[in-house]
Amino acid sequence: MSNQQYTIMVVDDEENIRWLYKEELEDEGYIVAAAASGEEALQILPATNPDLIVMDIKMPGMSGVETLIKIKEIDKNIPVILCSAYGDYKQDFTTWASDAYVVKAASLDELKKAILEVLSKRYSPK
Ligand SMILES: [Mg+2]
Repeated sequence: MSNQQYTIMVVDDEENIRWLYKEELEDEGYIVAAAASGEEALQILPATNPDLIVMDIKMPGMSGVETLIKIKEIDKNIPVILCSAYGDYKQDFTTWASDAYVVKAASLDELKKAILEVLSKRYSPK
């Protein structure tokens, strides 16, 4: 299956991160929509209808964890990968509802791997 069929929503308050993720994920063949806040993510969610959401934890306004909980209330089947610059969130109970957790790094290899894993889990035959 081609990655082209998958739409990924990137949610991050930092413009350079949104741009980088969009460039790199589009290079992988994904369709990418970006939101600058949790509020915006919720707003564009119905129209974007993403297969997966990659979301920053630390954002002004709604945090990534708060947004994750709202999204799961709307549709618990949308996979969400939480991202943070801080490794200590890995132990935080509030991230339990995410499908994966990735520490932000210069290379997006770990994120791309997590995306493939989550998508293959979601779409693997029962
Ligand atoms: Mg941030």
